[in-house]
Amino acid sequence: MHCTNCSETISDLAEICPKCGVRQNKVKNYCYNCGESVKEIQEMCTSCGVSIKKSKSVGSSEGMHPAIPAVLSFFLTGLGQIVNGQVIKGIVLFVVAIIIGFITVGLSVLVTTPLVIIDSYLIAKKRREGKQIEEWEFF
Ligand SMILES: [Zn+2]
Ligand SMILES: [Zn+2]
Repeated sequence: MHCTNCSETISDLAEICPKCGVRQNKVKNYCYNCGESVKEIQEMCTSCGVSIKKSKSVGSSEGMHPAIPAVLSFFLTGLGQIVNGQVIKGIVLFVVAIIIGFITVGLSVLVTTPLVIIDSYLIAKKRREGKQIEEWEFF
């Protein structure tokens, strides 16, 4: 493949170009497939037709493993959401879970805890895939 910064031919496995030292797919000056010059806003190379969107591996480095917020949610409702960047949602869920838990003498955790675990897991998974997460996005 070609370096996306300087178009030098580099190994397919190279994450950082040995010539210019730039991490691949951080900049998109050239098509990784054919080395033709492309623009940052292009999603597809007009010379060879390959998709030049940011690769999944780049997105995954931004988010943590989905199991981490899921485990945190198990111990404390809302904590998984907070580490996912949904701070207000996490705090509100925490407060709501306490109120409902108080009313139901703790029985509600059987429902709320699995829900917040699933929610934090799926949101973390989306983040790893490089998707934008809204403050109040669920699942
Ligand atoms: Zn380079
Ligand atoms: Zn190309």
